[in-house]
Amino acid sequence: MKFLFCPQCGIRRFHLKNEKGETLLVQITREFVIVPVNTNESVEGFDQTTLYCLGCSWIGTIKELKTVSV
Ligand SMILES: [Zn+2]
Repeated sequence: MKFLFCPQCGIRRFHLKNEKGETLLVQITREFVIVPVNTNESVEGFDQTTLYCLGCSWIGTIKELKTVSV
């Protein structure tokens, strides 16, 4: 599977957050599908509109991600 990268630091791991402030570690495929890194977990209940980069301070949407690492 091919994944998308942070436009600022180039890594491909992001957090989603939910209303309780909990985080979920995810990656995003080139087809813009959000996939939990831990396959036992689900994106259900998490806000999928905002991504928080694990490597830098970048916060944004799926559409802003890059297909190639910087
Ligand atoms: Zn980043």
